[in-house]
Formats: sequence, C-alpha cells, structure tokens
Amino acid sequence: MTETRANYVNGEWVSSETGETIDVENPANPSEVVARYQQSSAADAAEAVDAAVDAQDDWATTPGPERGRILREAGTILQERKEELTDSLVAEEGKARPEAAGEVQRAIDIFHYFAVKAADLGGTTKSPSVRRKNLYIRQEPVGVAALVTPWNYPIAIPVWKLAPALAAGNTVVLKPASQAPGVVLDVAEALDEAGLPDGVLNVVTGPGSTVGNEFIENEGTDAVSFTGSSHVGEMVYEQATDAGKRVQTELGGKNPTLVTDSADPAEAADIVATGAFGTTGQSCTGCSRAIVHEDVYDDFVAELVDRAESIDVGPGNDHEMGPQASESELEGTLDYIEIAKDEGATLAAGGGRPEGEAVEEGYYVEPTVFTDVESDMRIAQEEVFGPVVAVLKVSDFEEGLTVTNDVDYGLSASVVTDDHTEANRFVDEAEAGVVKVNEKTTGLELHVPFGGFKRSSSETWREQGDAGLDFYTIEKTVYDNY
Ligand code: NDP
Repeated sequence: MTETRANYVNGEWVSSETGETIDVENPANPSEVVARYQQSSAADAAEAVDAAVDAQDDWATTPGPERGRILREAGTILQERKEELTDSLVAEEGKARPEAAGEVQRAIDIFHYFAVKAADLGGTTKSPSVRRKNLYIRQEPVGVAALVTPWNYPIAIPVWKLAPALAAGNTVVLKPASQAPGVVLDVAEALDEAGLPDGVLNVVTGPGSTVGNEFIENEGTDAVSFTGSSHVGEMVYEQATDAGKRVQTELGGKNPTLVTDSADPAEAADIVATGAFGTTGQSCTGCSRAIVHEDVYDDFVAELVDRAESIDVGPGNDHEMGPQASESELEGTLDYIEIAKDEGATLAAGGGRPEGEAVEEGYYVEPTVFTDVESDMRIAQEEVFGPVVAVLKVSDFEEGLTVTNDVDYGLSASVVTDDHTEANRFVDEAEAGVVKVNEKTTGLELHVPFGGFKRSSSETWREQGDAGLDFYTIEKTVYDNY
C-alpha cells in the first residue's frame, strides 16, 4: 500500500487542513506511486510559521555546542539510514544509485561540518579607544528562515540551507520541491529523534505558489533562501525584498567548458561528458556548452560522441544514467532538441528517447550532442536541464573567452588547458561564481562558498562553508563600559 506522509509542524506529524494529497510517481516507472504527500494550503504554512516564531527565542539562546550536538546526532542517524535514503532518492528523483548515495553522504557530511561550526560561533572582540571598555561584536541569529528548495538535489540542497540556519540559532520553515519531498521529511525525522525542540524545524509540502508564497509573505519570517529556476527565483526575490526580508536566490546556469588547443581531446571529452551527462544533465552546474578550439575540434567531437553513445541509460538502481525527473522535464528537453535542429545545429549523438525493454516506461532521453552551434542560438543561451551539450567552434583563446561570457548566466565555468597563462586568464575573466581549471563544471566542496554571478544568483549572499553562515547571522556591536 502507498504510504501517505504528513507535514512536520511544531514537533508533530500532521495532515493538511485541505484533506488533499498529491502522488509522487517513480520517473523510471511512472505507473508506480512512490508516496503520497500533503497538498497543503496557505493556512497550513501560516501555522508552521507561527510554530517557528514561538520556538525562536529558546533556540536562539540554546548554547551553540548543544545545537551542534543535535546536528551531529542527526547526521549520525542519517548515516545509519543511508541505504533507505538512497533508495528513496532513486525512486522519487530517478538518480543513478552512486549519484544518489553520494548526495545522501553529502547531506550527512554537511550536518557534521555545521555541528562543529555551531560551537565556534560567537563573534569577535576589538581593542576599544578608551580604557575600561569592552568592545565586541556578537553574531546573532536572524530569526525565522524560510527555505524553498528544488527537486534536483532533494536532500543536499535543503540540508546545506537547514544546517547553517539551525547552527546559527534560527528556526526554520521549509518547503521542499513537490517532485521529491520524501528525503526532507526523513531529515526532519532524524532531527526530531536527535532531540530538536518542537517548532525549531517545520516542513510543509504543497504547491510553491501556495505554501512557498505564504512563507515568503508571512510577517513571521525574517529571511528567505530560495534555490530553483531563474524565472521563479526572480519573482521570489522581488516579493521578499518588497516585504523587507533578507533574501538569497541561487538559480539556473548555462555552464561552459572551454577546450583550448593545448588540451588533450580525450581528456577534455571525459571532463565535458561527465559534466554534461552526470545526474542526467539535471545539475545547476551541469556543462551545457563545450567551446572548442578549431585545432582540436574534430578529435574532441569524435571522442565526445563516443562517450555519449556508450552511456548505459535505464533505471537508476542498475544503470549509469537514470531518467529525467518528470514528464514535463523530459518534454522540456525534447522541445529544446527540436529547437536546436530548427536553428540549424547538427545533431551528432542522441536526440531522442532510447529504445529497449529497460527504458520502455520511464522518462528517458538519450545523451545528446549538438555541433555547429552558434553562440546566439537558443540552444547556446537557454538552460535545457537535460543531458544535452552544445559544441561551439572558436578560432582562438580570445574568442573562447568572449563566447564563455556571452550568456546571461554565470554559475560554473571550466577550462581545459596545459597553458598556465591561459588558465590564469580564464580564472580572471570568466564571469562565473565557480571557476575550475582542468575539471568538470559540476561537483562542489562543502566547505567553500557557492553561488553564481549574473542571472544565476541574486549575488546577495553565498551558500556553504563559512559564507553559508553569514546569511543566517546578524552582527550586534556592543560598547560595554565598566
Ligand atoms: P522551480 O523554480 O520550478 O522550483 C523551485 C522551488 O520553488 C520548488 O520548491 C517550487 O515548488 C517552488 N516554487 C514554485 N513556484 C513558486 C512560487 N510562485 N513561490 C514560491 N515558491 C515557488 O525549480 P525546479 O524545482 O524545477 O529546479 C530546477 C532549477 O533549479 C534549475 O533551473 C536549476 O538550475 C536550479 N538550481 C539551481 C541551483 C543553484 O544553486 N544555483 C542548484 C540546483 C538547482 P513546487 O515544486 O511545488 O513547484
């Protein structure tokens, strides 16, 4: 029987006042309903905010080491449940198993990282201008944080917001993406068992335009952290700033790998293929443009096509590349494939739905390569969010840099080169929040800042590492004369 899962509000598992639920299907086998979730209303969301407001003072004054102990314990509980969480991720989001296991491990590691940070928080002391005065700066929590998250990393992204928010003494209301909310409820369960006081975390499932909207508008929330598409994120930014809230938005990308004439075509193709086709091309940092020097272009394309055609596509549990997360994501990718063909790009690999028994039912698409792409084509400008890479030919490094920056987005960018000067110029001039030399555009370390430039981010605050705590803390300067 299909499990119906409740919201987590004020330490209780509760149903929505609407009495309605929404089914989440398995993208590898859409006739299978994985679980049923509350289709919550604005009133449900408002109740969660009230609980977070009520719990705020007590959590803010809980000693940092105690907050850290709860985060550490939650991480340990998740570690014990890693297999089940991985199963859940594969079933709801469709990821290949090693990718899902890696994502779950990332969430566990983030809890352990911020468990230590919680004890280190406090502030700094400065030398005052007169005797008999203490001059110091305290870091205080911002208050109630509203978190709205996407489906493509359904456990890592909520946790990289949630862990620093809780470590710093904020209470939280969280709306996970409707496509894959299960693992967030599992995280709430782990925190509950670890001893998180009632009301400190509240998770409400339901439509973004209803639950997310209420979290952003409600007077009780002080800060809004959103990750998702640029289209929705830009609306959320306006709405939250109009309501006078602290806001950060991390959004879409159109990430390039520049392949220079000194690059080994096989090595460059490995870097581009893993960046473009990993997680079925559904990473915000996924490589969707390979910008290739004409001297290595033909060899590079041959190697890339070879890799695209050798990827084993099928259910995530036993294949290299899983399905797209939903029918609408699959349709979006197939639409862009038609757009690219109409624009005059050459289809060099893939371009449709794969055939075979294993892939009959799900939302599968072939790893796809387009060549002869010009920078002003839509396939080179717009986020596709599927395993599709556009290859653009350039005649020198300068043109490569120009094309690298010729998009509205600026999340991640990489260069493949043996030339140290070119590598340094790329680092200096690439307009992206993450820049990599001889590495794929995807893959992040958890202890350094992450965020985009241009339309990829509000550029207000960074996530992860020490920078991740800044969003959730506010400084108070104390002049204490004695
Ligand atoms: P969406 O923007 O569609 O949704 C993101 C979240 O916002 C979901 O929880 C959604 O709810 C909610 N939402 C939708 N409409 C509203 C609204 N009007 N008010 C408040 N909340 C709303 O993005 P996707 O989930 O499709 O995620 C994919 C996108 O996320 C891609 O563009 C990708 O590049 C980007 N992304 C960016 C990252 C980064 O760090 N820069 C990292 C990962 C992804 P519901 O699910 O109910 O619709």
